[in-house]
Amino acid sequence: MCRHVYTEAVKKSYYDNNLQCRAEIRVRTCIFCGKKEKETVYMKDPPKRKLPKFIKHDLSD
Ligand SMILES: [Zn+2]
Repeated sequence: MCRHVYTEAVKKSYYDNNLQCRAEIRVRTCIFCGKKEKETVYMKDPPKRKLPKFIKHDLSD
């Protein structure tokens, strides 16, 4: 049994229009037996935060 140790390389990087995020196809290759695994990784942008509301403090009371 091979105890796979993988090296990872980005094969392709593109923008996924359906999911509206960047995607990378990564290929992991075992350095011992050469087994390859393909993995698609989606990198969602951090969710857009709403700007905090500025509460006006009326200090002139
Ligand atoms: Zn292996």
